[in-house]
Amino acid sequence: MENCDLLITHTTALLPDMTLRNDVAIAVDRGSILALDDNAILEARYHPRTRLDGTGKVAMPGLIDAHTHVCQQLLRGRITDEPPMIWARFLVPFESTLEPEDVYWSTMLSGVEMLKAGITAFADSGGRHMGEAARAVAALGLRACIARSTMDSGGFVPENMRGSVTQNIAETEALYREWHGKANNRIHIWFALRQVMTSTPELVESVAAAAREVNTGIHIHLAEHLREVEHCVVNYRLRPAEWLDALGLLGSNVLAAHSIVLTEKEIQLLAARGVIPVHCPRSNLNSHGFPKTPLFLALGVPIGLGTDGASGGSLDLFEQARLLKSAIQAYRGLPINDAAILPVEDLLRMATSGGARALRLQSHTGTLETGKQADIILVDATAPPYSAPHLQPTQHLLRTLVMSAGAHDVSDVIVDGVVLMQERRLTQVDEAEIICKAGEHLQAITRRAGIA
Ligand SMILES: [Zn+2]
Repeated sequence: MENCDLLITHTTALLPDMTLRNDVAIAVDRGSILALDDNAILEARYHPRTRLDGTGKVAMPGLIDAHTHVCQQLLRGRITDEPPMIWARFLVPFESTLEPEDVYWSTMLSGVEMLKAGITAFADSGGRHMGEAARAVAALGLRACIARSTMDSGGFVPENMRGSVTQNIAETEALYREWHGKANNRIHIWFALRQVMTSTPELVESVAAAAREVNTGIHIHLAEHLREVEHCVVNYRLRPAEWLDALGLLGSNVLAAHSIVLTEKEIQLLAARGVIPVHCPRSNLNSHGFPKTPLFLALGVPIGLGTDGASGGSLDLFEQARLLKSAIQAYRGLPINDAAILPVEDLLRMATSGGARALRLQSHTGTLETGKQADIILVDATAPPYSAPHLQPTQHLLRTLVMSAGAHDVSDVIVDGVVLMQERRLTQVDEAEIICKAGEHLQAITRRAGIA
């Protein structure tokens, strides 16, 4: 018998080819997946320090929220049904008055919501005081690619939210030196550009060069709004993706959140450069809607899925996947009579391996495979007596998981081999204290920002 840290027994596992395999065990040691095989084989081989009974559960790779805003968690409930401009009336006053402690507790609350929704890793496009976000991620046990919001122009951006090119680069480099690779390499620091309308050509070129120098990622909001297209065409006679490419930004280290209002030519350009698009369906349906997801897939481009933060809804990636399926089906499938234009397998890939690729973590996470880090979630779904009438009985468990499961069905969460949630109880942080502290900070920020 060999020793191992953890053995998840009698579970049904989602394999990288998107099939389900019954009655398997998963052995975990020193943070990574040691073996995934028939339960009887691994029970005979390993002597685990801890066991987790997976009976009646589906083991999946941890979900990856490839575009979120932990700094906006305490804006929840404020912007729904509000007339424009959300950016000027709410986001700017809110974000520009955030204090470091606000960001810490905002991130802690985001993390609790993520863990309870089966999200094990996220990419944040950046707000203020992101060192505090990193400190929270270290405490939560999550995995994250964190950036600093970076803007150097735009008449609608207040002074305290933008900086010179030199300042912007220096501040991200300082964050990088302090946090990159920390918390057992669970934290990566990225560069960011908020979006094209708040970036000068000098900023774009400098961010591209600075990220290349330390081989890290760049997170940008791209082609979310028609206004971005107008801005680039009027000022530079190029569409946004073409403009960024001309400045040397586009590469396989770029995560392009939204990627909606793109021409076919721009999509081919992004694909050729290896840029990974991340769709945020709820948020996108509120602005300019329907991505050309089938074209990206036909070109073989991995796609990530994002929540775009909690300001307009929950951090539930199951819900985002379903929303994208319905949107693409209605807008792109029906007109051409294609009933399976976006199958459940593709949606699951977006929420797992596609997200991992977007975060440049494809060799660490995103699939359940020997040698990868043990980022695993268990979804309570399979065994009689059935406790989830929305999931069982079913004629096709994989389809039912995507079409009917939700955050509340995730029972256990493991990140880097550590059990962070067991039977929906968080093991590393005090959930009640975090909700209480976050509530106090929400009140204080709202008063300070004058947005009550
Ligand atoms: Zn966003």
